Amino acid sequence: MSGRRQYECALCDRRAVVVGGPGHDLHNRTTTVGCCECGQLDDVVVARRIDGSAFSPDDDMADELMPKCRACGADAVMVWTAGDPCPRCGGSLE
Ligand SMILES: [Zn+2]
Ligand SMILES: [Zn+2]
Repeated sequence: MSGRRQYECALCDRRAVVVGGPGHDLHNRTTTVGCCECGQLDDVVVARRIDGSAFSPDDDMADELMPKCRACGADAVMVWTAGDPCPRCGGSLE
């Protein structure tokens, strides 16, 4: 398991427990995205282990695979890395 930790926006009070960047669990490679509409942070799967040993060689998430926000359904999500500002209000996420 990758290390998840809680991030909290000082301005809009949005809170999430995410990796804060590229990570992986048992079966999938994940990355963290943030929603520009509601500020929700979420870890999403960008690559799956196909045969239990190797990830698919394509590390880059194609734009069309960008998921919709699970919280509000908006498709205005962007890759979010620890240290980036809140995708919703630009406040600092700690
Ligand atoms: Zn915020
Ligand atoms: Zn949203």
